[in-house]
Amino acid sequence: MTANDGLPPLRAVIAAHELRARKALGQNFLLDLNLTARIARLGGAAGAQVLEVGPGPGGLTRGLLAEGAAHVLAVEKDPRALPALAEIAAAYPGRLTALEGDALAVDPTAHLTAPWKVIANLPYNVGTELLVRWLTPPDWPPPWSSLTLMFQREVAQRITAMPGSKAYGRLAVLAQWRAEPRIVMSLPPEAFLPPPKVHSAVVHLAALPAPRFPADPVVLQRVVAIGFNQRRKMLRAALKGLGPDVEDRLRAAGLRPTDRAEVVPLEGWCALARVVADA
Ligand code: SAM
Repeated sequence: MTANDGLPPLRAVIAAHELRARKALGQNFLLDLNLTARIARLGGAAGAQVLEVGPGPGGLTRGLLAEGAAHVLAVEKDPRALPALAEIAAAYPGRLTALEGDALAVDPTAHLTAPWKVIANLPYNVGTELLVRWLTPPDWPPPWSSLTLMFQREVAQRITAMPGSKAYGRLAVLAQWRAEPRIVMSLPPEAFLPPPKVHSAVVHLAALPAPRFPADPVVLQRVVAIGFNQRRKMLRAALKGLGPDVEDRLRAAGLRPTDRAEVVPLEGWCALARVVADA
């Protein structure tokens, strides 16, 4: 693939643009273009409008374009990466828009036509915040059709966890409420430069046409955050913050006040969110 796009190998790009990885920006770069092409394929890049967060030196960006993405919007906080991204844009005329900015503040609608696909090797420091934002807009379906995201393996397991497991919590409920998440790839630390301390995994989340159960996203987020904040406690104690009549509300939602948050299925959290919203 390197030969196809005519661009230099990533190590040479990093050296030429002095892109020494900065920990504060969550920089762990993928250097293997076969691997980035595989991630692009798992994300369904061919023919798609793609939002990439944190392109860095552009390994995944090149994978997305080589696999046939119609247009890629790449948002990068580190200004040092922009000249390297400009070289990729020149190799794929009209198909890459590279913006310097914070992904938390950028609105893709000015550059992409919905529905777009998000495919990214996320910076770990903002990864879960971005995921929660993408999963909790007021209206559904969202402007994206799928998210294909690299996380620390432990976070990926929290997104796909089932009730009764230690990893089950806020992320599992929010992800499984409106999307179908699954782990599609696992990567060892050595796949990155520099190698992080932990293993990583790619999670693919396909947006469902409608949430599995009705609930207000803001209320559901709040109820789940409070509920799992003290996951060792019984629901009636953990959710005390919902008001003095918490036991009545739990029963009205079909939940047992003596259960713990980690056994409550998605349907139960949504029922509780509806009871709280009605009150
Ligand atoms: N995509 C590249 C790759 O796979 O090699 C780099 C991935 S690296 C894990 C994360 C990238 O996100 C870094 O380039 C970092 O500078 C960038 N980044 C960090 N915080 C960001 C933010 N708030 N908005 C946009 N990019 C950010």
